[in-house]
Amino acid sequence: MKNVIEVKHSLLKNLVNSIRDVDIQSNLFRKYIGAITKILMFEAFKNEKMVSKRIKTWQGENEFEFLLEEDYVFIPILRAALPMLDGIIEILPNAKAGFLALKRDEKTFESKLYYDRVPDISGKTAVILDPMVATGGTLEYAIDVVKKKGPDRVISFNIVGVKEGLSRVVSAHPDVEIYIAQIDERLNDKKYIIPGIGDAGDRAYNTL
Ligand code: URA
Repeated sequence: MKNVIEVKHSLLKNLVNSIRDVDIQSNLFRKYIGAITKILMFEAFKNEKMVSKRIKTWQGENEFEFLLEEDYVFIPILRAALPMLDGIIEILPNAKAGFLALKRDEKTFESKLYYDRVPDISGKTAVILDPMVATGGTLEYAIDVVKKKGPDRVISFNIVGVKEGLSRVVSAHPDVEIYIAQIDERLNDKKYIIPGIGDAGDRAYNTL
């Protein structure tokens, strides 16, 4: 699938398979989600634009290259994506964050937006964070909402998905690059990913 990058790395696989274990505690579950997201970001940000900045070093003033951290807005879809944001802002402390809340109707499986607190993203890179791409409905909708705000570029970071959901997002938004840690087999009749990790929000926040 064009623009879907399933990042291959033994460390990543080890982390994803670790969070499949239902006996892992929620604090470790969240930490691992944060670590997985950092690895996705290492891949996605391999060749980002850097700018020269003059800084004071231990040997006096000198110029070095830096990312324009403020030009990135990370947008977790509440609540399951919050641990993804935690991982990112540990290493990009000056990046901005915006928040979207969408709820999946468990009967129709359609998504509804009920909270939008995204700052001005015009001219910036918006990175949507959503751990699970099941039907793809939530991600497709979130990208619609974000695109209307006029960012320069939209990227998506996801932990586990299935082809069906990813194809839906790619058809609706062929310009969006999707970095994902693992493409799993299929959806069950409740539209959960198999083998998957279960309900990511419940697993992260002990609400099972
Ligand atoms: N949302 C989840 O948290 N898990 C799935 O498997 C599908 C959607």
